Amino acid sequence: MNIKNIRADFPILAQSIQERPLIYFDNAATSQKPQVVIDAITHYYTHLNSNVHRGAHTLAERATIAFERTRETARAFINAASVQEVIFVKGTTEGINLVAQSFGTHSIEQGDEILISEMEHHSNIVPWQILAERKGAILKVIPVSDEGELDMEAFDKLLTEKCKMLAIVHVSNALGTHNPVKQMIQKAHAVGAKVLVDGAQSSPHFEIDVQDLDCDFYTFSAHKVYGPTGIGILYGKKEILDELPPYMGGGEMIKEVTFAKTSYNELPYKFEAGTPNIGDAVAFHHAMEYVNQIGKKNIATHEEELLRYGTEKLSNIEGLTIIGRAKEKASVISFIVKGVHHYDIGMLLDSKGIAVRTGHHCTQPLMSRFGIDGTVRASFAVYNEKEEIDMFAKELAQTIDMLR
Ligand code: PMP
Repeated sequence: MNIKNIRADFPILAQSIQERPLIYFDNAATSQKPQVVIDAITHYYTHLNSNVHRGAHTLAERATIAFERTRETARAFINAASVQEVIFVKGTTEGINLVAQSFGTHSIEQGDEILISEMEHHSNIVPWQILAERKGAILKVIPVSDEGELDMEAFDKLLTEKCKMLAIVHVSNALGTHNPVKQMIQKAHAVGAKVLVDGAQSSPHFEIDVQDLDCDFYTFSAHKVYGPTGIGILYGKKEILDELPPYMGGGEMIKEVTFAKTSYNELPYKFEAGTPNIGDAVAFHHAMEYVNQIGKKNIATHEEELLRYGTEKLSNIEGLTIIGRAKEKASVISFIVKGVHHYDIGMLLDSKGIAVRTGHHCTQPLMSRFGIDGTVRASFAVYNEKEEIDMFAKELAQTIDMLR
């Protein structure tokens, strides 16, 4: 894998920020886009733009073919059994809300339990809180250890026959922890619970096989997998989706409408009311193809090396503590520095052209667990290089000295 060639595919990386070469380490928030994805958006609006599924004309047919091609690419990307199980959503947040609303309405009763973890992103907390309040259900939380791993003994105790839904993050955006979801899914199924996996941070780094995981729902955002913003995928098992009520009503999701009664469209369209984000969906195909061409295994190996190298470099900086030292991790390094505020570090690094994220990373309960209000987070992608980490570590050490 030639990183220089890969970097050349991402025009934004050639930019200077604050008159310094851009070092982009905010990939967990969103990754940059290769030229093929940017070109695909232009191509769509230049040659294909039309509404999908309904038109009798050539453009509508071409747009529909391109849109549905992405669904098939996404199906293969996560190894779903059928395209009927692949629903277009805005992103992970909408995927989780769809399940919380639809599954929640159908299957959650007063006194039922919903199990999440202490390391969830707000988008995998708040929809369940809203549901719990609406239905009188109980939200339970799996604690996190000092290392940033799930407490599996506590999980075993918290998972009871009352649990109807386990909603769990595959890879933590704030800690990098790669959770043992396959094992958790087996245990949850044994008590009759369904499982939703938040795949926002696992989809960019690891091969995903929803059939092997046996999860009931898996959702992810295109924009973290080198694709456009505003589009993502919700996978759900067909036999479950068939039973669930629609999430939103409108065009496309119906079979027949009368004022007396409306019948709904077949899967996946039952869950796709209104005109979808066609242009970005079409371009998303090219992002997944780009990842497939490099190979998820190659991406993971490269990022693992960056994680190892970065962890070693940062560990040498006095007063710096890494938050999240799980044995199984994705390429995310979150840290705090004694006596220095994370925000100040982020500001000064930005003045050197280095983009990191600071703050609570939409995981406030997790920050409270560690007794902090935020961290600095460096997260790596396929196009990052060791030389960038060297520069980052050097500038970071200087920044800390200055701020102290
Ligand atoms: N879950 C996790 C673990 C995330 O990292 C994110 C994005 N930061 C989300 C959910 C929400 O994703 P989106 O904003 O793309 O809907």
